[in-house]
Amino acid sequence: MTIDGHTKVAGIIGWPVEHSLSPAMHNAAFEALDLNWVYVAFPVAPEGVGEALTGLAAAGCAGLNVTIPHKQAVIPYCSSVSDAVEAIGAANTLIPDGDGGFRADNTDAAGFLRALDAAATIDLSRAQALVIGAGGAARAVAWALRSRGARLLVSNRTDTKAAALGPTVPFSASALDEACSSVDLVVNCTSLGLDGDEVPEDLPLDGLRSGQIVADIVYRPGGTPWLAAAAQRGAITVDGLGMLLHQGADSFTQWTGAEPPVEAMKHALRRAT
Ligand code: NAP
Repeated sequence: MTIDGHTKVAGIIGWPVEHSLSPAMHNAAFEALDLNWVYVAFPVAPEGVGEALTGLAAAGCAGLNVTIPHKQAVIPYCSSVSDAVEAIGAANTLIPDGDGGFRADNTDAAGFLRALDAAATIDLSRAQALVIGAGGAARAVAWALRSRGARLLVSNRTDTKAAALGPTVPFSASALDEACSSVDLVVNCTSLGLDGDEVPEDLPLDGLRSGQIVADIVYRPGGTPWLAAAAQRGAITVDGLGMLLHQGADSFTQWTGAEPPVEAMKHALRRAT
């Protein structure tokens, strides 16, 4: 790839952001389509979000992803927000608005549904799902599932946040195991499982059934212990890399107007994990 005076710059803001797989995924996509674009990680401290967005917009940044902890903080600095951002209260994709600023979208929701569709067959309009977690990603997943007509149960360490999303289940392995027996789909949207080789003790295990769909939006090299344990019990598993891939593919199209080279992006993610 040659970087020259015409190169368009996209990137991701987060704190920390060095671990992000998005640069590998998006640069592979630009290369696959021979686009003169580059994607970089911008470490932006929480107190610098407004300044960073103003500066990046002024410098002609052609598209941004937003990750932890800025998904809510960016919203007031955007000129407009999509229906998804309005409903979810978090943004992960910023698109130049043509007027020196950014408009905000949330592609996590659509990315989750595409990953689910790619891995499993389920009629969500007849399904009940258990969403574990109530942070930004959980709100996106809950909104996505509801948009297809799913009924939800929600569980979170901080119960008041779960209650804002739907009927709650106490956040304990025993209560979650019991809830699992009556749902078609279980999704872990907490950050539990990011580290360590053991299945996190608060996540359900004994209640998971063969044939049940179990999704973990946490991604890490080799997958998460909880999802591996679910697969051992015969569950149909959906890993977090699929959501990462499809939210990125959606962002890519919004910035470039091009069809995303999904296979190239998937290979780049596999190489990077
Ligand atoms: P967030 O807004 O900070 O929410 C974190 C969630 O995890 C909250 O529900 C929080 O509970 C819970 N949690 C954190 N530590 C916990 C602990 N020790 N015990 C129990 N619950 C705990 O973060 P987020 O944006 O929702 O992201 C959550 C995870 O999803 C992260 O690992 C992120 O990398 C992943 N993610 C993946 C994708 C993808 O494309 N695959 C996209 C977005 C996010 P409280 O409310 O009680 O604090």
